[in-house]
Amino acid sequence: MRKSKGADMEKVSVVECNSYITEEVCSAVAEAVYRLDFTIPRNSTVLIKPNIMSQNTPRQGTITHFSLIEGLCRILQEHGCTIIIGESISFYQKGMTRKAFKTSEIDKVAEKYGAKCIAFEEEPLVKVDTGLTWMKELYLPEILLKADMVINVCKLKSHGSLRLSGAVKNMFGCLPGGYKQKIHTWSRNELELADVFLDINEIVKPALSIMDAIDSLDGGPSSLGKLVDTCRILASTNAAALDVVATEMIDYKNEESPILVQALKRGMIKSFDDIEVLGEPKKVLFKKPVKANLEKPINKNSALIKHTYVDLEINQEKCTGCKKCVHACPVGAIATEGDKVKLDQEKCISCYYCLHVCPVNAILIKPTMMNRLIRFGRFLSGL
Ligand code: SF4
Ligand code: SF4
Repeated sequence: MRKSKGADMEKVSVVECNSYITEEVCSAVAEAVYRLDFTIPRNSTVLIKPNIMSQNTPRQGTITHFSLIEGLCRILQEHGCTIIIGESISFYQKGMTRKAFKTSEIDKVAEKYGAKCIAFEEEPLVKVDTGLTWMKELYLPEILLKADMVINVCKLKSHGSLRLSGAVKNMFGCLPGGYKQKIHTWSRNELELADVFLDINEIVKPALSIMDAIDSLDGGPSSLGKLVDTCRILASTNAAALDVVATEMIDYKNEESPILVQALKRGMIKSFDDIEVLGEPKKVLFKKPVKANLEKPINKNSALIKHTYVDLEINQEKCTGCKKCVHACPVGAIATEGDKVKLDQEKCISCYYCLHVCPVNAILIKPTMMNRLIRFGRFLSGL
């Protein structure tokens, strides 16, 4: 692991932390932030983006542990900040992001520190320009762009095709509802998908990224992976630099990570070596992934991509024609038709915001078989 130093080098702090005991984690988070000389503006509004999956509890190791959120909330509270915690889980189901705040136990931390938990699919979206030729615009929750500061709190997990589900990828969860899956179907290969993750990072500009690498998930990102003691908390003001250090920690190659290859190409990191590591990463050997082919086309017929976002329909009998959905839809996919409305599925990006603004629940989802299976799994898990 590199040890070089330089005034203009990206810095990644690495702090040992051997358990999820709250006090130990809180002091490790504070130390990780302190080593970066990171300043939190007093009385600012800070949005924390954790990594939460609806079905999973803190003990499964697939999600950001609530103790890191507590460590961060303590620091923010000392600075008089207003705290918002925002997420949109994968595989949309109405109300499930809110349930995920409960199963992750982040809701209890939020309550303790007066933070507000928000589901991004319930928030209005705004259009932002990307630097991509194949997708010129993105729609992001307005609240994310209005916050004074965004802090990204991710989990160290390996990922088959991306190699690492870390700091850069965690920001993809800012996209609401099934929009994430839609973008999977639009991008041709992992490099294009990586560019979307990086664009979100460049637009939202998380001021700080913190990684929960106390337990890490080998064979993630789902709970099918194996928990490994990596006993570290990492932090950086540069999400890509943090991912470089995490990738090396699990003995994967940065050159095989589509996210890091594109981050380097875009100048988000100068090189994989020009990173100053403040602390001692613990090197662990994760299961070797299959050889990377970064330009391999994404399997758009994969059930997890194609069948997990749902189409919508309007129940014309229930619809009162109030037009709230027409005004709320960020892409103009709902238009008035006589005294009712109609939905253009081709234009729809599956953000599902309209479902949350309709006062009479007249917008219905048409679940696919895959979606039904996911719901059934959640039902069996008591969710
Ligand atoms: S119709 Fe509009 S608001 Fe509703 S899910 Fe589609 S894009 Fe989102
Ligand atoms: S918000 Fe609901 S009730 Fe109002 S126009 Fe849209 S579908 Fe109809």
